Amino acid sequence: MRGVVQGVGFRPYVYKLARSQGLAGFVLNSSRGVFIEVEGDPATIDAFVSALPAEAPPLVRIAEIIRSDIPAVGDSGFTIHESDAEGSAFALVPPDICVCNDCLSESCDPADRRHDYPFTNCTNCGPRYSIILDVPYDRPMTTMADFAMCDNCRREYENPEDRRFHAQPNACPVCGPHLILVESGQPGPAEPQTSREILQRVVDLLRAGGIVAWKGLGGYQLACDARQPFAVEQLRRRKRRSEKPFAIMVADADVAASLCFVSDQERSVLESRERPIVLLRRRPAPKLGAPLADAVSPGNPATGVMLPCTPMHDILFRILRERWATNAALIMTSGNISEEPIVIDNAEAEERLAGIADAFAHHNRRIHTRVDDSIVRIVSNVAVLLRRARGYAPQPVWLGRGEAEVLACGAQQKNTLCLTRAGFALPSQHLGDLENFETLSFFEQTLERMCRLFHARPTGVAHDLHPGYLSTQFAQKMEGVRRIGIQHHHAHIASCMAEHHLEGRVIGIAWDGTGFGTDGTIWGGEFLAADYLTFDRYARLRPVLLAGGDSGVREPWRVARSYLLDTFGAIPDTYGAFPDQPTWSQMASPERLRVIDTMLQRRVNTIPTSSAGRLFDAVASLIGLRHTVSFEGQAAMLLEAAADVNPVLAADPYAFSLAGASPVEIDLRPMICQIVGDLDRNQARTHIAARFHNTLIAVIAAVCRRMRADLQLNRVCLSGGCFQNALLLSGCLEALGHEGFEVFFQREVPANDGGISLGQAAIACEQLRQLG
Ligand SMILES: [Zn+2]
Ligand SMILES: [Zn+2]
Repeated sequence: MRGVVQGVGFRPYVYKLARSQGLAGFVLNSSRGVFIEVEGDPATIDAFVSALPAEAPPLVRIAEIIRSDIPAVGDSGFTIHESDAEGSAFALVPPDICVCNDCLSESCDPADRRHDYPFTNCTNCGPRYSIILDVPYDRPMTTMADFAMCDNCRREYENPEDRRFHAQPNACPVCGPHLILVESGQPGPAEPQTSREILQRVVDLLRAGGIVAWKGLGGYQLACDARQPFAVEQLRRRKRRSEKPFAIMVADADVAASLCFVSDQERSVLESRERPIVLLRRRPAPKLGAPLADAVSPGNPATGVMLPCTPMHDILFRILRERWATNAALIMTSGNISEEPIVIDNAEAEERLAGIADAFAHHNRRIHTRVDDSIVRIVSNVAVLLRRARGYAPQPVWLGRGEAEVLACGAQQKNTLCLTRAGFALPSQHLGDLENFETLSFFEQTLERMCRLFHARPTGVAHDLHPGYLSTQFAQKMEGVRRIGIQHHHAHIASCMAEHHLEGRVIGIAWDGTGFGTDGTIWGGEFLAADYLTFDRYARLRPVLLAGGDSGVREPWRVARSYLLDTFGAIPDTYGAFPDQPTWSQMASPERLRVIDTMLQRRVNTIPTSSAGRLFDAVASLIGLRHTVSFEGQAAMLLEAAADVNPVLAADPYAFSLAGASPVEIDLRPMICQIVGDLDRNQARTHIAARFHNTLIAVIAAVCRRMRADLQLNRVCLSGGCFQNALLLSGCLEALGHEGFEVFFQREVPANDGGISLGQAAIACEQLRQLG
């Protein structure tokens, strides 16, 4: 039997099931999976086999059951055997999961020996991926090897009837990890204190507006009071993060619902065992208590919210409730400086976060593998992963495209890598933007550790075509492997196909910010007819010039001027007749405007792009929402927020035309003309933003109709960062669904570049399979 069957209470479950049915035999954790031998009458064995997946514990994922008959040996009784360490040594590894209710009630019970113990866990909950050094998953192969179990813990660990049977991180206050408090300006750790005393001190610091770095499940988090403007602004300054939204943590879903609108489905994701950050729309005024500080998510109506995921977080919120407020809201953001990987090591935390945190709540259990918080958004009633990390990684995706072992290196932004092994794709956790030495080191370390954990030896390496990406350069330095370059948007579509196990050819719509095209220009508004092996670029947005290349990405006004030049043949001196409309002088100084205009007019230091992301930037700037941005996608986010007013659907789309073939050109100049006209008539930005979104939906529907007529394709895959825009995605689902298309979009791996490595892996496996 194969799947996620180790470290998730599967063997004790098999033991209990076999005994309840009076079957004899044994269960063994082997490196090839779980091996079960049972003896009894055939009907009972049939019942046993069908009950196996049906009644399995929550974290078990069974991928495959292979059954064969052997002669009876006259066994009596049922036993659990020790692990065997031989064989091809491949096992799937479970992710880290939030504390379960049984463990929580023990932690709340003053009579329990684990009362207020921050490291309580059992077979159904607690750390996994972040503490596993190697397989088979046994305590010596985890960072819990540092702690010898006390007699009480060992008894639980060895008793198949106990909830903690073979729970590798099993611990208690006597034998397990403990908290350590270090305050800035103090010579060293404070006097030994109980966890409650330490967390009380943390609460006092937070209440006074302080910033505390504390060691969570997959890395350090920085916490401060989300309602105190000074505290939040101070965190922004010290962390050097100007506008990117911060996530918050609150005690439970009811507190979340007092601050934000929370649907039943959002509530269930908030409370799920993966405990991701869930993007929620803030209430204009909270139902309870003071509002969140503006600096939590400046200019953005959405806030990322998560609930406590470890006993430590839970105890903290209990103390907050006792000593301060029932509805506390804390910033809970990654413990790192600007774009570096999240810090996991105690000494490293004190060094790197020294200028940020006023105090450190460490503990002495090592985090082996760094795993950031995951982010989910509900779109059209579906939970969509925007960042896949804690709680989800390293869950596999079944590829079933042969046994080839491939490393896919991903792209640049929001990088993940992906290994294939035994028919599975194993996407890594979110690694970050591969733009600095620290993140590249994290990439290399993750690769090395995943290869060890999954006993993988890649013979092929898949990479993006962009020569400047560090992931591409990494792949090109690998020796003795077959290198496979894969076009960025083809990988996006293959990723969506792989997630949904699609075969054959599909209509692939890949819309994002940047991707290197096969013609050397920047693509990003692409309609591909694609399968795993090949693709045709059926249609694309009409390219405009991007002045100053990639550096133009931070300045949407440059691409706004480029669209104006393309539409009118010259850049108008003014546009928008009314005083509250945007003016060029808000965008940049006259000298800067002149420099960029000259570049655009003479086509010097420019590159053509069909990017949909840049189109969002251009429109956001044209209507005066934002002329410069501090992170990619910011302008698009504001444009979506502006359009998200009732009634969006009543806003007519603007005009556009489709021309030519191979590829068909989508000409949006008529739309730019009409937007300028709307500005002249002093139409509201929200109205223009809504019409813009509806135009894109109309464009997508029109091109899909043409592709269906030309190519007899009816399945549509939507991928790329633009489809994290809920208005665009839900609008496309509705419009295409209405016309009878079968539409697929990504939920288990991100539609943005974080999902690309899965698509690269699927394409590479198929290529290698075709080669034999
Ligand atoms: Zn538990
Ligand atoms: Zn113990």
